[in-house]
Order: sequence, then C-alpha cells, then structure tokens
Amino acid sequence: MTEVIGYCVKCKEKRPIANAVQVTMANGRPAMKGTCSVCGTGMFKILPPEKK
Ligand SMILES: [Zn+2]
Repeated sequence: MTEVIGYCVKCKEKRPIANAVQVTMANGRPAMKGTCSVCGTGMFKILPPEKK
C-alpha cells in the first residue's frame, strides 16, 4: 500500500495517515480517511478528482 500524507490538525504538521481507507464523499469526490500515525487523531484528506 502506498503511504498517504495528510495534514494533522493536532500536530499542525503533515503526517502519514495510518489505516488509510479511500471513501467517497456525498458529492462523489474521493477522499482518504484514517488516523494520524503520531498522535492518533482522526484525519481526512480530500483527493483530487479522478481524470477520465
Ligand atoms: Zn497528529
């Protein structure tokens, strides 16, 4: 699995997202959901739209 980097609001730094899973938001955009690998805070990262 590729490592996903997101912004942790608690660390106030970019961190790898642990246990990242891809989800689809209500508007159909892909996003990654997981926890901060350092402090365990929930993280959410909006992904760029897929190009078709
Ligand atoms: Zn953190």
